[in-house]
Amino acid sequence: MDAGLKRELEAKVYAGERLTREDGIALYESDDLVWLGRLAHHRRTELNGERVMFNVNRHLNLTNVCSASCAYCSFQRKPGEKDAYTMRIDEAVRKAKEMEDEQLTELHIVNGLHPTLPWRYYPKVLRELKAALPNVKLKCFTATEVQWFEKISGLSADAILDELMDAGLESLTGGGAEIFDWEVRQHIVDHECHWEDWSRIHALAHRKGMKTPATMLYGHIEEPRHRVDHVLRLRELQDETGGFAVFIPLRYQHDFVDSADGKIRNRIQARTTMASPAESLKTFAVSRLLFDNVPHVKCFWVMHGLSVAQLSLNFGVDDLDGSVVEYKITHDADSYGTPNTMHREDLLNLIWEAGFRPVERDTRYNVVREYDPAPTLAERRAEPQQVWA
Ligand code: SF4
Repeated sequence: MDAGLKRELEAKVYAGERLTREDGIALYESDDLVWLGRLAHHRRTELNGERVMFNVNRHLNLTNVCSASCAYCSFQRKPGEKDAYTMRIDEAVRKAKEMEDEQLTELHIVNGLHPTLPWRYYPKVLRELKAALPNVKLKCFTATEVQWFEKISGLSADAILDELMDAGLESLTGGGAEIFDWEVRQHIVDHECHWEDWSRIHALAHRKGMKTPATMLYGHIEEPRHRVDHVLRLRELQDETGGFAVFIPLRYQHDFVDSADGKIRNRIQARTTMASPAESLKTFAVSRLLFDNVPHVKCFWVMHGLSVAQLSLNFGVDDLDGSVVEYKITHDADSYGTPNTMHREDLLNLIWEAGFRPVERDTRYNVVREYDPAPTLAERRAEPQQVWA
């Protein structure tokens, strides 16, 4: 990138001007990671100061049986496969109850598109979970699942969301977004929920008062222009509804360790490498700069590793996915040594050691507890530093 364009983009960011599609592509073309980080950190600090938000949640997958076979997915199983599972409702409740001692505030539930489970199962699970854990917020189902519920129930998304909210649903999850551009999407997504339905369902949730997350799966066969397009679609929708609370870039992962049957389910890994840490940091930074009307950008540390998660806090990120005690979708495909359990104390230390102030939040991003700011450099030098894998 030539110095003139760099100055022009810098001036726009510092003046708070909205960036264009061309600006986004130019930012991705820059190799000056430090410069990108500085710009994104400026915007992140304007919006969120030195805060890093987190919440104490548990991820629960009620079933891994799925009618679709998305090309990047190592989680799905077909009915009858050896490690296919579907939880009975009491089993799901028992698993959730195991987390009570962790002062759990949120359950994050996503699932395969099960071919024969009836629609009634889903509100029933929510009601039972809510009865067992009344103080826990339920963040459940992707827009893809809601569209699936339309198909299996014959009801509209409007009626489905009403019933799920009545059963205790606090928010949808942000998944199913992947990359919206059809040029890429047709090669990686096998279900029927694309931009039109995904955006319709989130906009509906926003009109009903929900704050929802939005994700983007990057680092596979897409190009930076597809990432820019993805964010600009979301930014436009956000202008209309204001209902997105957070944007979560998710790094595509290869299927290194498949379970007992030794099958590799991920069909695109022969065609792609995975995004490097530098590419991930760039993606966080450009996303923060382009998606100017979303309040938060999140790093889901399970997919990035803890060191990249700490670094991401200087590249536009102000939210870390919380105290995950068990997470199956990623860890069916992961052999990076990233722990799959993280508790409140670990997360606090991770944030303090990166130089930020931890803030515990709830599902709607209300502050639950503000912690002390990060210790000073002199205070930190007095203690041996922890090395995060
Ligand atoms: S990504 Fe979701 S919808 Fe696609 S195959 Fe995997 S579980 Fe099924």
